[in-house]
Amino acid sequence: YREIRLILGDQLNSNHSWFKEVSTDVLYVLAELKQESTYVKHHIQKICAFFAGMRAFAAQLEAQGQHVLYVKINDLRSENSFANLLVELAREKSAEIIRYQLPDEYRLDAELAELHQQSSFKIIADDTEHFLTSRTDFKNFFAGKKQFLMERFYRNMREKHRFLMDGSAPEGGKWNFDHDNRKKYKNEVPIPKPQNFANDVTAIYEEIQQAQLPHFGTIDASKLIWPITRSQALGVLKHFCEALLPYFGTYEDAMHGDDPFLFHSRLSFAMNAKLLSPTEVIEASISAYRSNDKISIAQIEGFVRQIAGWREYVRGLYWKEMPNYAQLNHLENQNPLPEFYWTGNTKMNCLRKSISQSLSLAYAHHIQRLMVIGNFSLLTQLHPDAVDAWYLGIYIDAIEWVELPNTRGMSQWADGGIIATKPYVSSGSYINKMSDYCGKCAYNVKERVGENACPFNALYWNFLDEKQAFFKDNQRMSMMLALLKKIPAAELAEIKLRAAAVIANPDRF
Ligand code: FAD
Ligand code: SF4
Repeated sequence: YREIRLILGDQLNSNHSWFKEVSTDVLYVLAELKQESTYVKHHIQKICAFFAGMRAFAAQLEAQGQHVLYVKINDLRSENSFANLLVELAREKSAEIIRYQLPDEYRLDAELAELHQQSSFKIIADDTEHFLTSRTDFKNFFAGKKQFLMERFYRNMREKHRFLMDGSAPEGGKWNFDHDNRKKYKNEVPIPKPQNFANDVTAIYEEIQQAQLPHFGTIDASKLIWPITRSQALGVLKHFCEALLPYFGTYEDAMHGDDPFLFHSRLSFAMNAKLLSPTEVIEASISAYRSNDKISIAQIEGFVRQIAGWREYVRGLYWKEMPNYAQLNHLENQNPLPEFYWTGNTKMNCLRKSISQSLSLAYAHHIQRLMVIGNFSLLTQLHPDAVDAWYLGIYIDAIEWVELPNTRGMSQWADGGIIATKPYVSSGSYINKMSDYCGKCAYNVKERVGENACPFNALYWNFLDEKQAFFKDNQRMSMMLALLKKIPAAELAEIKLRAAAVIANPDRF
């Protein structure tokens, strides 16, 4: 072979220009390396989904006539690093060129960049041809700015890519329809059945056991529900556009004890593995909006904002701020994770539901991640390293470039406000407003103190009190801090005692 080309597990983009030609000079390499499965403990469904996706992708390339070398998790070569594996193979096959697509993760980028130091082979790094922005667009867009407002970035993306534009104005007359969206779900409309698959990953599951990879969470290996091929991913996209998009925005922030998915697209794994491109997802959803009267501008705008806005925004921020970002702990939080994060075993219904579904499905939607689990983690002052490792392990879509800014930044405010101007913290009242959790909980969401009081309430006021020095110059926190000041000293003392009890032993609650 003249050329060795690496395809990483999250680079399953069959439309990449690499594959336009079938060449017998090129050996494609996909590898299930131990290092990728052990740097953090992953959910078993996540490991199975990535391996199954990679194996299906390799089989598809072979069917097209490409030459593929596939390293399985129990092969000897799986002990290698990517860089060593590539050099080893290039030597064995007498190749002249080693080629890879730019990884989205800083750690792998650094590892592969080292290849450029050696002189035996020509090393070429290509774009993944997936994102709407390059690694540096964000940095250039905000050059010289102190604040990186997502709204500015998003509007620029809309203009640049002509998404939902009416000449130079946004379609529908405004850029943001958040105000019309984000309602509580009260069974007004039935929730469509999710598009689940029954991928049999039993063989992969057994190989993972044999390799003794650490993992957690549950799986029915005969029926993995996540899409692992492009055609399955296209099926999820079609289902979303037809059945879910008409209510996507309306119930975007709603939570419901009986339904883990509501109207969410569940496209994150397929997009993050690059089975689908953001452009095609946006184009398909806009075309559904144009042909279906039931889809209002508020629904489609809410969806496009997530993908052209948030998804590209966090990626740009990641590349601008790494590697420092992964170390930040602005609020100096130090507590360990409660045990119930690994079991779902807690009396707090919102957490029990959100964590249990994360363990059984490798999925929770945005508001569960942010305002239930993330909120509790921040209010109990958990160490961001522990919170990060948990989020990076548990979710089917968790890859560092997207997980880290969301978790450490948006949710734990460990970056001191780079991504979010104020921390996403709330008492139980927000959770009650957006869900049916509180009605079925052992605790009373209206009470602040006493054995039956919702723990979020005491934790919230305690957090503001303990951390107020960090927020003294933050305009957006002034109302919360003014309310804190109005709490009589004796009541605040009681609140703080209750919060201290939760923080000291969260597993008792
Ligand atoms: P939908 O609600 O249907 O949204 C559509 C798409 O928009 C998603 O598939 C996703 O690609 C994109 N999107 C929406 N919000 C965001 C966001 N904040 N950042 C980036 N993309 C977004 N998303 C991940 O893909 N991987 C992660 O590891 C991850 N970790 C998160 C951790 C925390 C603490 C929080 C608050 C959010 C995290 N998110 C992450 C963002 C978001 O929660 C998930 O993308 C979403 O829940 C995936 O489900 P869905 O495909 O049904 O999303
Ligand atoms: Fe969660 Fe508090 Fe509501 Fe219970 S009462 S579900 S702990 S917010």
